Amino acid sequence: MKKNYIAALALVLGMFTNTWAQSQRSCATMQHLQMQLQSDPTLAARMQQIENKSQQIIAGNAQNRTTAVIVIPVVVHVVYNTASQNISDAQVQSQIDVLNEDFRKLNADASLTPSIYAGRAVDCQIQFCLAQRDPNGLATTGIVRKSTSTTSFSSNDGIKTATSATAGGDNAWNSTQYLNLWSGNLSGGLLGYAQFPGGAASTDGVVILYSAFGRVGNVAVPYDKGRTATHEIGHWLNLRHIWGDANCGDDFVSDTPIQQTSNFGCPTFPHITCSNGTGDMSMNYMDYTDDACMYMFSSGQSSRMSAAISSSRPGILTSQGCVPVTGGTCAVPVGLTSSAITTSSATISWGAASGAGSYNVQYRIIGAATWTSTSSTTTSIALSGLTSASNYEFQIQTVCSSALSAFSGSGTFTTGTVSTTCNVASGLSSSAITTTSATISWSAATGAVSYAIQYRIVGAASWTSTTSTTTSKALSGLTSASNYEFQVQTVCSAGSSAFSASGLFTTSTVATGCSDIYEPNQTRTAGALISVNTTISGLIGVSGDNDYYKFVTTSGLTNIKVILDQLPADYDLKLYNSSGTTLTTSQNGGTTSEQIIRNTTTAATYYLRVYGYSGANNATSCYHLTVNTSGSTFRTTNQLADEGSLNALKINGIDELSVYPNPATDKLNLNFFITENATITANVIDMIGKTVMNQNFTAQEGFNQSALDISSLNNGIYFLRIQQNDQIVVKKFVVKH
Ligand SMILES: [Zn+2]
Repeated sequence: MKKNYIAALALVLGMFTNTWAQSQRSCATMQHLQMQLQSDPTLAARMQQIENKSQQIIAGNAQNRTTAVIVIPVVVHVVYNTASQNISDAQVQSQIDVLNEDFRKLNADASLTPSIYAGRAVDCQIQFCLAQRDPNGLATTGIVRKSTSTTSFSSNDGIKTATSATAGGDNAWNSTQYLNLWSGNLSGGLLGYAQFPGGAASTDGVVILYSAFGRVGNVAVPYDKGRTATHEIGHWLNLRHIWGDANCGDDFVSDTPIQQTSNFGCPTFPHITCSNGTGDMSMNYMDYTDDACMYMFSSGQSSRMSAAISSSRPGILTSQGCVPVTGGTCAVPVGLTSSAITTSSATISWGAASGAGSYNVQYRIIGAATWTSTSSTTTSIALSGLTSASNYEFQIQTVCSSALSAFSGSGTFTTGTVSTTCNVASGLSSSAITTTSATISWSAATGAVSYAIQYRIVGAASWTSTTSTTTSKALSGLTSASNYEFQVQTVCSAGSSAFSASGLFTTSTVATGCSDIYEPNQTRTAGALISVNTTISGLIGVSGDNDYYKFVTTSGLTNIKVILDQLPADYDLKLYNSSGTTLTTSQNGGTTSEQIIRNTTTAATYYLRVYGYSGANNATSCYHLTVNTSGSTFRTTNQLADEGSLNALKINGIDELSVYPNPATDKLNLNFFITENATITANVIDMIGKTVMNQNFTAQEGFNQSALDISSLNNGIYFLRIQQNDQIVVKKFVVKH
């Protein structure tokens, strides 16, 4: 056997270069052994000594333990980075319960053992207790909790060493007196690993993934029945994997069949390998099957474990770890208070208790099923990671040198409510308004995650709702020529603000036909000082009806640009001076735009004629006329201050009547502008209102010059009154023969 054992250790040194299968049970005990053999040249010799002694004990040639049932004190180091990793006392206790069933063959599923192996399944007469006194003789729950900033651990023993108060794992208790069990988060699908007898004291013990620890709480199938610890503690008591970690290898136990390799999942029995006849003992705790499918140690394994205790862990046999401390006064803490309460933290305090060496603390949301546990060496502790707006209770237990008190009555506190400022939106405005759409905007509100919007025609019964994640929203499908109101509500992470006061806008009116619209205050295109939209209705041809405009330039704004565009038909453009002289004509063909530019330094009055080419009339569409004046260059910005100096007006009928000479002797000349051919009636009225002359004459569209014979009138003051239809223009003149 000696030769075989050395060969087995040598084999270990050449194995396990690959990672284990993640979806199957993975125990890193042999990898851990491999690392230790490489780093500690004396380990192999120590293990050989233990093996030799064990074999002597098993052969009956050396003293075995005398105690019928061994009780092994256990300390559980709960090393956690998250709340779920901080497994409950109940989950820890459930693991102890599993061990006490499995090692005593009290497990209910022992009955599933195939009959061929039932006679080999035994009660190992090994029990476990959560330590009741620590290495210093002080009372303990046997559970040590250590918060760590380390998110996960591997099989390199990092979980067994506290590298600082906040990082790494938790240091082992005296391993000659206690079984150290570490619960924590293991990376890479690792379920756990153990250290064989003979290894370093500081790393002696068993490490288990927190979600494979015990059988209640945060456990995950198929490793939810606590068998990972049963398996690993088997290693800790010197058991090998049942296949000997080699092809048809040796596990140094006589009553376990040779088997080729590990079994996974829940294999069908019998699975015959290595000509083992009766089949693999896959239901043995030292195979790799799921928790639900392993339920026995063999008699040979029991003997080997018993021998390992005698040969390598004799201190366990006399440990006082499971003996409660007694005697002395150990008062229950009183005077529980809380302070520094935030939404996620609080500091709890209590009065110093007689006999206290330290205190155990447990707290929970009132009504929760489980407590969170921690401890303190002072009479206060800061709790963090709490849930906001929750009622908590907490209890304190005094840890004395010789006893534990009962837990105190509960103190309570309520964590703060998360309150995020959530301001009402303000600064509502609107833009890009058309007949059916508008864009509404507002200022960013403190706390906003998004915005809820409601809008309606003012006076409507119901709102239309929408949302936006920005500070604006384009609304469409609106009704034209309607007054709308809209309100904005700030949506925050923890609720919403009230709706804002209403913003208002009015949708545009749908154009129906054309009307003259002077738009001195509208937002104009670059360069336009005045824009005019006017009807085409009545244009019948070159010599027919026309549209006329008059405008006056002033010093400093003398250059002129006229643009006629958006033409529905072939329209032309002509510019006159106030004497009726044509200055410029624009007569592009078809519906291209017309443009006149006149560069001048003289302020003057102008007339502008828009007229249709023969047949090019359109009674329903509109053209667009833009008049722009400037100093040296045409304007590119809106300048309302210049409005009065341009004042372009559409004119209709008689305009610019002048009479001369004045005083007149025998002939009075009339000059006037008229927008259409007409018969004009001229009356002369004296100072007492008597009509002294009445004459009709024909006027041509445009500028007219006529004369009245006044030689028959007496000297005096008179009024010339000319009328076209219902338009009347009056001028005063003097006759002086
Ligand atoms: Zn293993």
